Amino acid sequence: MTKDIVVLGAGMVGVCTALALRQRGHAVMLVDRQAPGRETSYGNAGIIQREAVQPYAFPREWQAILRVALRQGNDVHYHPGALARLAPTLMRYWRESAPDRYAPIVTAYSALIRHCLSEHERLITLAGAQDLVRKSGWLQAYRTAQAFDRAAHEASAVARVHDLDWQALDQAGASATEPALHGRLAGAIHWRDPWTVADPGELVTRYAALFERMGGEFRRGDATTLKPAGAGWTVATEDGQLSAAHVVIALGPWASALIETLGYRFPLFVKRGYHRHYAAEPMPRLPVLDVENGVMLAPMQRGLRLTTGAEFALRDAPPTPVQLGRAENYARELVRLGPPVEAQPWLGARPCVADMKPVIGRAPRHQGLWFHFGHGHQGFTLGPVTARLLAELIDGEPPYIDPLPYDPMRFAS
Ligand SMILES: Cc1cc2nc3c(=O)[nH]c(=O)nc-3n(C[C@H](O)[C@H](O)[C@H](O)COP(=O)(O)OP(=O)(O)OC[C@H]3O[C@@H](n4cnc5c(N)ncnc54)[C@H](O)[C@@H]3O)c2cc1C
Repeated sequence: MTKDIVVLGAGMVGVCTALALRQRGHAVMLVDRQAPGRETSYGNAGIIQREAVQPYAFPREWQAILRVALRQGNDVHYHPGALARLAPTLMRYWRESAPDRYAPIVTAYSALIRHCLSEHERLITLAGAQDLVRKSGWLQAYRTAQAFDRAAHEASAVARVHDLDWQALDQAGASATEPALHGRLAGAIHWRDPWTVADPGELVTRYAALFERMGGEFRRGDATTLKPAGAGWTVATEDGQLSAAHVVIALGPWASALIETLGYRFPLFVKRGYHRHYAAEPMPRLPVLDVENGVMLAPMQRGLRLTTGAEFALRDAPPTPVQLGRAENYARELVRLGPPVEAQPWLGARPCVADMKPVIGRAPRHQGLWFHFGHGHQGFTLGPVTARLLAELIDGEPPYIDPLPYDPMRFAS
């Protein structure tokens, strides 16, 4: 039976949700306050991360925690003033990262990641977006032999368990694979399965255009106007009030505020991240992560996009792009970096959950309400994967992945 469904949020996650539901014949309205793919799904590093089978855990060794606390590395930054507000959720994140709790989380996370290429491929083909996608993987680069040897050892173990294609490259191998690298490296791991996208926001735009070609409708509106009405829901848009029996909340980093108004307090937080494009000559072909210095160099249509690691801060606090300033200096040691393209860096927020798994499924206490958010570091990768899962749950079909680990009920008590 077809249903009227409103999907709130048109990032990678919401657009893929709307598409999956429309492909199943439902009458779907996609609502966002701006055009699709203009927020987090625009500003990321554009990697469809088939290798990301282990979500980012909170460090457990005291040396690593001390390094972050003293703000010694460039991969993590934090606002001291935000810590009191963030502390309960970060404590939970720390507890969930303990080895005995983390192992089943990896099992659940990798069960999603393993489908990312096949689920994106279907949409890329239908959307005619092949021109944006490169299928040559990316480089995880190391400056010191000690860090490289440790990483190669870990990569070998992970690749064996999860059937991943990778290669350990020495300095010469890294330069041959990515000729734009001129700085000295101890070595690099070439993850060869992942795909990279030259304009992540444009890929979301193409998926949204496919949704509209298939008869779906997009409306500009404010998700915070969502209200229960009779047996369903209403939301205000620029074109008037929408009513539907079912609503999906796919608001990424903005989901927590809306679900709190409905009485749900989930352990959600954000890890903010910055990017800026630069001219580069020659332009690298593959993304390169300078692991020890916390900067990703991602070639994009607009230039070489430098993206930063995690900043623990309140989502809407003023920008403090200190990591990006240092990232620029580190990147200059590796490639010939020209001037920045934009006057100001971009700032976004990874929508994170303390147990590192996205929230996918029926809202515990409301009829016709569905949750789909919290994709953390890999929402661009996972959008089509978890969208298919949610669509199967909404249709009451046997799901293609066990949905239990991601069930919102886990936070309902
Ligand atoms: C620096 C950086 C690098 C990253 N690199 C990668 C990567 O290489 N690979 C990867 O897989 N992931 C990456 N990520 C993570 C990824 O970008 C996110 O997980 C993903 O974009 C989240 O998608 P989303 O659709 O949930 O959220 P979003 O893309 O943020 O979409 C949420 C939507 O909700 C809308 N919205 C918010 N409030 C309202 C409202 N009141 N009314 C109406 N609409 C509203 C917004 O306008 C937005 O369009 C990276 C993130 C960052 C910050």
